[in-house]
Amino acid sequence: MLDVGRHPNIELMAYSEVDKVEGEAGDFKVTVRRKARYVDEDKCTGCGACAEKCPTVVSDTFNEGLGKRRAVYSWFAQGIPSTHTIDPDHCRQLNGKKCGICQKVCQADAINFDQKDRLIELNVGAIIVASGYDVFDASRIPEYQYKQIPNVITAIEFERLLSASGPTSGHLDRPSDLAIEEEIQGLEKKAKKSRKMLDKFEKKYEQPSAEFYEQYRDGEYDGDEDRKKWAEKYGAHLALVEPLEDLKREAEAFGVAKRLAFIQCVGSRDFRFYPFCSGYCCMHSIKEAIIANEHESETTSVIFGMDIRAVGKGFEEYKIRGGNQSEISYIRARVAEITEGPDHNPVVVYEDTRERKVKEQDFDMVILATACAPNDSVESLSEILGIEVNRFGFFQTGTSQPLDTTRPGIFACGCAHGPMDIPESVAQASGAAARAAQILTDSEMRKAS
Ligand SMILES: Cc1cc2nc3c(=O)[nH]c(=O)nc-3n(C[C@H](O)[C@H](O)[C@H](O)COP(=O)(O)OP(=O)(O)OC[C@H]3O[C@@H](n4cnc5c(N)ncnc54)[C@H](O)[C@@H]3O)c2cc1C
Ligand code: SF4
Ligand code: SF4
Repeated sequence: MLDVGRHPNIELMAYSEVDKVEGEAGDFKVTVRRKARYVDEDKCTGCGACAEKCPTVVSDTFNEGLGKRRAVYSWFAQGIPSTHTIDPDHCRQLNGKKCGICQKVCQADAINFDQKDRLIELNVGAIIVASGYDVFDASRIPEYQYKQIPNVITAIEFERLLSASGPTSGHLDRPSDLAIEEEIQGLEKKAKKSRKMLDKFEKKYEQPSAEFYEQYRDGEYDGDEDRKKWAEKYGAHLALVEPLEDLKREAEAFGVAKRLAFIQCVGSRDFRFYPFCSGYCCMHSIKEAIIANEHESETTSVIFGMDIRAVGKGFEEYKIRGGNQSEISYIRARVAEITEGPDHNPVVVYEDTRERKVKEQDFDMVILATACAPNDSVESLSEILGIEVNRFGFFQTGTSQPLDTTRPGIFACGCAHGPMDIPESVAQASGAAARAAQILTDSEMRKAS
């Protein structure tokens, strides 16, 4: 990414979309919509002062909703260009309310609420589609109870938890525990506010609220409207503080997740969804289990799969190393169901096909290795580019020319036309660039002759 940003022959247009494509191979006219960031890319230094002061807190999509960000944000720390963006769906100022705090604190004068989308026309000889994939929506498999049981998460969510720059700084905090901690924070905020109100009454009447409340309940202040208000406020305060103390006691027992289950082929090799193998998920589950064990040496992992597809140079050795050195066990099984046991522990119900027995085992956290699915933009992109998609929703490519789409001069690489891992995607990108170069050379030669 850094190399791309610096390369003299590459112009990076981040936060942009293709609106229209006209012409033909060797001579395409492409209309690109550069979306308004409301932050001037050239002025923004990426210092983050705006985000620090922005009062609008929203779910952080980059962290798969496991963390929070502000309405002015940077997508992720190492992003190129290193600029912030204002989220028009949540920014107060852009939704007709008064704010503008980010503009006041930005020393570089980079905030610009008047910015508009810009349409740019490019003349290009060839187009490469590398729009990637999306993770399969695991809630389509009701028996796994994704989104119902908080500690059943997807592999991509688990990657964010494992990441040092993620929402938990790499600690494997369980989502159920995180939700309780968030509830505690919310209650503490409210309790602080109500305490302030009680302080005013206590100062006025020179008496602690608890003592006054006893007397009030004995009927000592009947008819005193101001003290009635005090009693109501104190009652409401107790209703906040008691559950808060219970939750705090519960939170004292929280630790990181140490017993992990990985469920393979979630949506893949499943005729209800995608009958094919997604290729990379066996390896990423092993990788994640190894990293989890590196973070916390007591962590054990069970990987449930019909078979582990370690197809690639050194992959089988990596799998065996995981078993020998990183406390990973492999169980040959197609998991039937996940239920919730005590303490929000997910319980995995499966048939151990070697022993031919139905078993169940509880874990601190279950990680679903979701299938590689086409992303949301495929349909609109296929229309804009005039290229076909296959029956699974990925871009259609040729059998003898596997990077060629159905329109001459337009190529597809990486997961845009099917599941593959990073090395294969990178190799395909080079292949697609070579195919595109052929078109450019041909069209140059035609012009010259
Ligand atoms: C949990 C998990 C862990 C993984 N771990 C590994 C691993 O350790 N090693 C490995 O080799 N592989 C791993 N993979 C697989 C890896 O993610 C893919 O191989 C790789 O991301 C494919 O790269 P790509 O460029 O084709 O697609 P993507 O990485 O999906 O990139 C596509 C890009 O195009 C952008 N885009 C989409 N639509 C549009 C549009 N209309 N206009 C403009 N931009 C658009 C997207 O925002 C995205 O930035 C993992 C996958 C998962 C799910
Ligand atoms: S104007 Fe919008 S982005 Fe700026 S601080 Fe206010 S809410 Fe946040
Ligand atoms: S790579 Fe493994 S988990 Fe992924 S679909 Fe293939 S067999 Fe299933």
